[in-house]
Amino acid sequence: MKDISCKLLVIGAGPGGYVCAIRAGQLGVDTVIVEMNKAGGTCLNFGCIPSKALIHAADEFEKVLLAAEGKNTLGITLEAPKLDLAKTVSWKNGVVGRLNNGVVGLLKKAGVKIVHGRAKFHDGKTVEVETETGTQVIRTETVVIATGSEPMELPALPFGGPVISSTEALSLAKVPERLVVVGGGYIGLELGTAFAKFGSAVTVVEALPRILPQYDAELTRPVARRLGELGVSVLTEAKAKGLSAKGDALVVETADGQEQELPADKILVTVGRKPVMEGWGLEELDLDRAGKFLRIDSQCRTSMRGVYAIGDVTGEPMLAHRAMAQGEMVAEIVAGNRRSWDKRCIPAVCFTDPEVVTAGLSPDEARAHGHEIKVGQFPYTANARAMTMQGEAGFVRVVARADNHLVLGIQAVGQHVSELATAFGLAIEMGARLEDIAGTIHAHPTQGEAFQEAALKALGHAVHI
Ligand code: FAD
Ligand code: NAD
Repeated sequence: MKDISCKLLVIGAGPGGYVCAIRAGQLGVDTVIVEMNKAGGTCLNFGCIPSKALIHAADEFEKVLLAAEGKNTLGITLEAPKLDLAKTVSWKNGVVGRLNNGVVGLLKKAGVKIVHGRAKFHDGKTVEVETETGTQVIRTETVVIATGSEPMELPALPFGGPVISSTEALSLAKVPERLVVVGGGYIGLELGTAFAKFGSAVTVVEALPRILPQYDAELTRPVARRLGELGVSVLTEAKAKGLSAKGDALVVETADGQEQELPADKILVTVGRKPVMEGWGLEELDLDRAGKFLRIDSQCRTSMRGVYAIGDVTGEPMLAHRAMAQGEMVAEIVAGNRRSWDKRCIPAVCFTDPEVVTAGLSPDEARAHGHEIKVGQFPYTANARAMTMQGEAGFVRVVARADNHLVLGIQAVGQHVSELATAFGLAIEMGARLEDIAGTIHAHPTQGEAFQEAALKALGHAVHI
């Protein structure tokens, strides 16, 4: 096979890698991208997109189920609905497939060459790709490592049999009657909630005293309440010890030190993800690490000249939009433009019910940074749009400096608040003050009005409360 030479070689076509390659191609950089699986990476194939598709299906199913059970207050009645999970999964696969093709099309449109196979460094400038038809050698001036992350396994509970990761959970043939979720973080709660709505009896086992421990307790309270309403039982300060002798239950040590068996058809382990550091030749390069991740600087440069790294392989927060932003920045740098990481915040959304959004600093984090702060919080019980959508749980909270009212952080919990992440990110990125948000006309009736009211509340003159 003839060797390929290029200016930029990107390893991994997840959101970090494919955005980097597309932007580099647009900028006229001679770019090659290598992917051993499908374009779109974890995000598109086993992460963000398939999970949100199933969450949407679960929401729709729950709505019709409630109507059939006579629990709908809108005057809608129905016969008992049925769920065919195989059809749901096939619809989800259709969405993923369309997006896969979309990413490949965009790469081609930008003039990027795609090579399918597993890439392995020979040295900092040469990569060998095991393709279906043999070894392809690629020589390059610059490399971007975008190999992403994979599910973390618990030594006492290896994946296999009834013990599954998020990847398998997104493609189950039928709804498990009893689902035990180990880890009450992002994935565990997003998918645990969806399966509870599909009809599984769900138990969440969380090692720490609270679910979603990365957020403050006030923000997660509406989520915990809703889990209770959905019949999800949550065991906090509980440790998963392993499978029962028969393999049909999870043995846990509960907060009081007692052992308990939780019968389960499936055990979904979602205790975090780890960077993909093996299989691509790290040993040939000897790059510096930051803990378990690759160490990068403010331009995503690793410790080796000409070798960049982006996305989950470079650390927290492991989010698709962080990977994309890093990818875009590195493409610009490789094209000769002066860029470095200057983002003020990386918004995060947890697609639970209700949804949680955070951007910037929480009140506790702002205080820990030494700021004297003003906090304004506006509840969805006082928002007309939330009432019309039966989504009154939750609130929007704005955190600002007390002296000059610069907004430091915005958090929200509520139905559909994921869409407010854009407004929150924009406000912080543009250096908004409370007066800027309060002085912006927010269309009525929308959930966004709660954002304006939270800013007004921090200023001491909310109108609708
Ligand atoms: P990845 O998407 O992991 O892509 C890396 C790619 O590199 C893969 O395609 C892999 O096959 C390829 N690769 C690895 N090694 C090689 C090699 N040697 N040769 C060739 N190719 C290689 N984030 C959000 O922001 N929002 C969400 O709603 C969200 N939901 C999620 C839900 C789930 C269930 C999961 C698991 C994750 C979710 N995430 C979400 C996280 C998000 O998926 C990741 O942050 C994101 O995919 C990271 O992008 P990346 O480009 O760094 O890596
Ligand atoms: P996570 O870090 O969000 O949650 C892991 C949870 O497992 C934590 O609450 C932790 O305390 C708990 N835990 C750890 N070890 C345990 C043990 N032995 N027993 C019981 N509980 C234990 O990790 P995740 O849910 O696997 O998600 C991985 C990453 O993927 C996230 O950090 C996030 O970056 C990304 N993700 C993002 C989204 C989103 O943006 N909406 C959705 C899913 C995943």
